[in-house]
Amino acid sequence: MIITVKTGQKTELIDITSKIQEAVSASCTGKGMENGLCMIYVPHTTAGVTINENADPDVKSDILMILNKIVPWEAGYRHMEGNSPAHVKATLVGASELVAFENKKLLLGTWQGIFFCEFDGPRTRKVHVKMMPGFRHEI
Ligand code: ZN
Repeated sequence: MIITVKTGQKTELIDITSKIQEAVSASCTGKGMENGLCMIYVPHTTAGVTINENADPDVKSDILMILNKIVPWEAGYRHMEGNSPAHVKATLVGASELVAFENKKLLLGTWQGIFFCEFDGPRTRKVHVKMMPGFRHEI
């Protein structure tokens, strides 16, 4: 399944938790697939995905503030396209996350959300969501 994310700013974190949960529910329904692993993969070089707190919006603001500090816009980059900071941030954050699900529900912690990370927007982006069935939680 592919999810489309339209970003509105140069650098931005967008909570896509509900979209991923919908993808899990839709993919599992009618297939007897209650448990498994959900892979969230971003096929871009200037965007990524991360899991962090989605209760207090200041957390994502702080993450972006620090990423912008440690990866400055000007640093003598060589890449001709002029968006090297976005490439560096994408590498720091990573292109995928793996989240287990049980009874069609993502096993996220109370304060966790899944964020699409835009580093060279605004753009229309894709997120691949793949379900791998059969990893039942055993005690
Ligand atoms: Zn580039």
